[in-house]
Amino acid sequence: MAKEKEHINLAFIGHVDHGKSTLVGHLLLKTGVISEQKLGEGEDKFRYVMDKLREERERGVTIDLAHAKFETDKYEFTIVDCPGHRDFVKNMITGASQADAAVLVVAADDGVMPQTKEHVFLARTLGINQLIVAINKMDLVDYDEGRFKELKKEVSDLLKIVGYKPDEIPFVPLSAFKGDNITEKSENMGWYDGPTFLESLDTLKPPEKPIDLPLRIPVQDVYSITGVGTVPVGRVETGVLKVGDTVVFEPPGVSGEVKSIEMHHEAMEKAEPGDNIGFNVRGVGKDDIRRGDVAGHTDSPPTVAKEFTAQIVVLQHPGAITVGYTPVFHCHTAQVACTLTELKQKINPATGEVQEENPDFLKTGDAAVVKVKPTKPLVIEKIKDIPQLGRFAIRDMGQTVAAGMCIDVVP
Ligand code: GDP
Repeated sequence: MAKEKEHINLAFIGHVDHGKSTLVGHLLLKTGVISEQKLGEGEDKFRYVMDKLREERERGVTIDLAHAKFETDKYEFTIVDCPGHRDFVKNMITGASQADAAVLVVAADDGVMPQTKEHVFLARTLGINQLIVAINKMDLVDYDEGRFKELKKEVSDLLKIVGYKPDEIPFVPLSAFKGDNITEKSENMGWYDGPTFLESLDTLKPPEKPIDLPLRIPVQDVYSITGVGTVPVGRVETGVLKVGDTVVFEPPGVSGEVKSIEMHHEAMEKAEPGDNIGFNVRGVGKDDIRRGDVAGHTDSPPTVAKEFTAQIVVLQHPGAITVGYTPVFHCHTAQVACTLTELKQKINPATGEVQEENPDFLKTGDAAVVKVKPTKPLVIEKIKDIPQLGRFAIRDMGQTVAAGMCIDVVP
């Protein structure tokens, strides 16, 4: 039997209209996921594919297409979310979909635009450590090498500021619309000697499992099973859980011994990051714990924050955000209303430099350092210690208003 290919979750980011959908459509076509006949003719046939995916996903009808997959020589890729999908940020943060890598699409004619910056900042905030930069629409700039070099420099500067290492990132000049440098080297760009877009995907590395970090399992559900006992269910985010371990659930602070671990109805001795498990804990009642609690080992228990300092970026808010604002924070599986108690600094999202001390309000597009007080106990970790539990999305009025990360905790 052929060895299974390793798996990578891929997101497509970049300014609106820079060609994300077109690139994905072309890719799915070239890798045989969808057929030419299905597309029909027409100007925007590739983009049409993505629109179809998006529509179906929003109606929630086609499970298959909800996670479009394609293969390269080395890997199997899943496109974790449609470009432009409203819940992308929330899904990334709450773990519903996690991107291991992102393709940043920048149109050669426009260059770096506001959403390019915002998405790069977000990708970094969300912990996407690997990038590929697609300089798209090269056909609109006469496939000019000079323009490519200029953009490579511009994008590199942006990436460096946010903390990426542009020297290790492939920059591919291409045309998603015409097909240049997607799967085959384009004759229109003889000056380019790097990989095609498809080849560049094979330079990515599969995600490493964070087994050396302290154990953290955010609880998704709690069952009481006759003859077994209390069985919390959740995904191991970090660390390793073994049968016989003593675990503590925070915030309630109840603990017990792990009697058994199960995944897909099969018993196992230990669970690792990425495993979706149910585990039976002796000494913990069904009503002692609930969704949003986090299990960890007793010698390095999950951090319960009375207050924390965070860096946030406001994605969409119709008005002004001021001290006292109390929206719902979505952090791992927890949803807790939290109050902004202080707006400490407004910062430049692209450079991190301080623009204003103690601003009176924040609006869409602003990034800031703020103080936050949860209205009830919440487990959240410093992003530096346990990145998987240091991120959150702020939701209000049915929308993701902001995203952020915890940089310090007042226990
Ligand atoms: P998105 O908003 O980033 O997903 O962008 P779309 O994929 O929807 O593309 C926006 C527009 O740019 C569409 O009209 C595309 O046909 C066009 N487009 C995308 N890629 C290219 C390209 O490589 N060259 C040209 N000339 N047009 C492109």
